[in-house]
Amino acid sequence: MIEIRHLRKEYENATPLQDVSTVIRDGDIIAVIGPSGTGKSTLLRCLNLLERPDAGQIFVDGTDITEKGCNASKIRQKMGMVFQSFNLFHHMTVIENIMYAPVKLRQYSRQAAYDKGMNLLRKVGLAERAMNYPDALSGGQKQRVAIARALAMDPDIILFDEPTSALDPTMVGEVQAVIEELARSGKTIMIVTHEMAFARKIANRVFYMDEGGIYEDSTPEEIFLHPQKEKTRWFVKKLKVLTLEIRSRDYDFVGADAEIDKYCYKNRISPKLCLRMQSVVEELCQQILLPIQETPDILVTIEYAEEQEDAVITVEYSGGFLLEETENQLAYAVLQARASSIEYEDLAMSDRQIVHVKIRQE
Ligand code: ADP
Repeated sequence: MIEIRHLRKEYENATPLQDVSTVIRDGDIIAVIGPSGTGKSTLLRCLNLLERPDAGQIFVDGTDITEKGCNASKIRQKMGMVFQSFNLFHHMTVIENIMYAPVKLRQYSRQAAYDKGMNLLRKVGLAERAMNYPDALSGGQKQRVAIARALAMDPDIILFDEPTSALDPTMVGEVQAVIEELARSGKTIMIVTHEMAFARKIANRVFYMDEGGIYEDSTPEEIFLHPQKEKTRWFVKKLKVLTLEIRSRDYDFVGADAEIDKYCYKNRISPKLCLRMQSVVEELCQQILLPIQETPDILVTIEYAEEQEDAVITVEYSGGFLLEETENQLAYAVLQARASSIEYEDLAMSDRQIVHVKIRQE
């Protein structure tokens, strides 16, 4: 069992891990997902001390491995790591790559290391490549060798850092099959991946990383079908999101239009839909809400996904006011013409109103 307590890692320009605490149980298969730059790889590298955390503790079977004097190389032996870029020794044959650590660090006899290495190569389907040099292998084969090499040390956990993202798409399947087999054998696995279908298939837990840590930790079913938190939902539904905060009477609506233009261009949203979005923001916020709000406090979230039928503009504002009560009925009529639906969220006992305006893409 691995317990992480208040882990922090900062770099000069980023603090990807602010305060991470979690427990990894034996046999857990944890898929680590999230936007790039959210510390997924840093978390893996801190776990096996390839990076020194700035604060916090990591207990492996009760021993704090972050304590001074702890033997980092011994810890790493308990944690196999498989990298995106394989990191095989190019001047050694495949079998020598696998035998190296058991002989050097575990005092295996060469014969015992060879026998074990060949067994592992059989497992990953590459026994007949034992005497080849890595350069003679395809990317998928190299990665399977890297997995066999990690297994040769009988690690308690294997950490995979985007193991298939450097591969030609035709080779992703063979590597995933080997990882899936390992997962089924009961090995504890932590895998950073962008392959959502694969994560969903093999994992019993998913960490969605964001905002300096594990933002949501749940089962694949929950994360992919019923995410509890907003950013998880944006990520798994591949939602492109733009937020605007209107907190002044002098809010720069021309600037907001330009931002929506930029957002649409970046996400290949049609000019027609873009115009509709701008029009909804203008009618709803500038024409209807702004005139009646003493201290403007309007949050706009625009969400769009390629595979979804509608774009959704969610507007949250203070006061119990309903849009249809507006004196500016012309603005409301334009809003209705642009929207395929206008729905309020039921916020009993709240003085805030949330309204979802759906806009058809076509
Ligand atoms: P992810 O794996 O989620 O894409 P990383 O863990 O690689 O994210 O990086 C998280 C953040 O930390 C990024 O902003 C990255 O630029 C920064 N970072 C990672 N490694 C280093 C490093 N060795 N030196 C400085 N900054 C780093």
